[in-house]
Amino acid sequence: MTNKPQLVVIDDEAGITEFVCDVAEGCGYSVQSHLSFLDFERHFISAVDVIVLDLVLPDMDGVEVLRYLAEKQVGAAIILVSGYDDSVLHSAKNLAKERGLNIKGSMSKPIKIDDLETLLLSIKADEIKKKQQSKIASTSITEAELEQGIKQKEFVLYYQPKIELNNNQFSSTEALVRWKHPEKGLLPPDAFIPLAEESGLMDQLSQLILETSFKQCEQCGLEGLHPFVSVNLSANNIKSLEFPEWLLSNLLKYSLSSSDITIELTETAIMADLVNSLEILTRIRMKGFNLSIDDFGTGYSSLQQLYRIPFTEMKIDRSFVMDALQDKEARAIIEMSIILGHKLGMKIVAEGVETKESLELIRELGCDFAQGYFIARPMPYDNLLEWIPQWQEEHPL
Ligand code: C2E
Ligand code: CA
Ligand code: CA
Repeated sequence: MTNKPQLVVIDDEAGITEFVCDVAEGCGYSVQSHLSFLDFERHFISAVDVIVLDLVLPDMDGVEVLRYLAEKQVGAAIILVSGYDDSVLHSAKNLAKERGLNIKGSMSKPIKIDDLETLLLSIKADEIKKKQQSKIASTSITEAELEQGIKQKEFVLYYQPKIELNNNQFSSTEALVRWKHPEKGLLPPDAFIPLAEESGLMDQLSQLILETSFKQCEQCGLEGLHPFVSVNLSANNIKSLEFPEWLLSNLLKYSLSSSDITIELTETAIMADLVNSLEILTRIRMKGFNLSIDDFGTGYSSLQQLYRIPFTEMKIDRSFVMDALQDKEARAIIEMSIILGHKLGMKIVAEGVETKESLELIRELGCDFAQGYFIARPMPYDNLLEWIPQWQEEHPL
């Protein structure tokens, strides 16, 4: 038995399978190749981690293979390869996603060694992270434990900066919650937010998060730094008609103004109870808070809802930002979102900016702000206090 992740390549061109195998071995995979679908089917193993699939095979076309993989409920990361033009590759990719397959990327022939390497290394890193996260999930947090954690105020905020693209200046931060669990260590939001939402504890947790962010925002101001803070809310938080009042009266305990705070909500959260959320969000906005629509492009908000809710900011989902360099459809979505957002008076933030190339692209496309690992990872409050002046020194006006 090997501990290496397993990669399978299915392509009728021997030169390509050899090339992919070489690159994959160099990235630490153990590899297997098949020149036809029949050969693949004969040796099928469900434990495979990555499948590189040519959409054009002699005995079966790629779309049929995708159907076969979906029926077998294959969870492997899939990379599609084709000699067709980008739009065919793109449609096949979407079709496969709809069928629940885990499509990680697509490449046109000739495959570039750098692109393939980057993709394989990032899939490997994701797999490791997923295994760690499922380990965390399997430590199974109980409702009682979560309630206790909230009472004990074991939650801390990490802050991720955002910069303004026209002058590279620091502009604001997003507060991202972590649980400093006494035994399990620092837990990411994915490990407890779903439980908080299901168990009705999200209101208590969000109140703690909002209060912490207000306190630290005020403290930052006292240090001579004035970061505007964005806080994420869940669907559960925008159910109560008293919430806008609660928000404002708690803010006013600090020397802050509501325009210092942005509330981020995903399209999905807003759609959960549209009529109520429309009213609550409008009232939050009327009290002077900024409103941001998060993960834009992944949900189903219609143009009409965008128009009816007075959003001040649109955050383009990181999946589009990450794909935009290779995928012209992703770029088109960003371009259209920018036009739409700007026409409706919103500022546009690109999230998930991981490279210099990505930063330059979204600047060129006309985004107003950028956030992502290339600028800074989320960091504890104390680190933020050091990061802001350092960034300003390195990027003078
Ligand atoms: P989100 O609001 O989309 O937050 C951005 C997530 O993307 C953060 O993950 C951040 O660490 C990560 N990220 C930032 N830049 C990059 C990048 O360049 N590349 C990549 N691959 N990732 C990047 P995190 O902190 O694990 O948060 C995950 C999600 O959990 C958030 O997604 C948000 O939906 C939710 N969440 C976090 N804090 C809170 C909170 O206080 N309340 C609620 N309701 N939800 C929260
Ligand atoms: Ca967010
Ligand atoms: Ca987001």
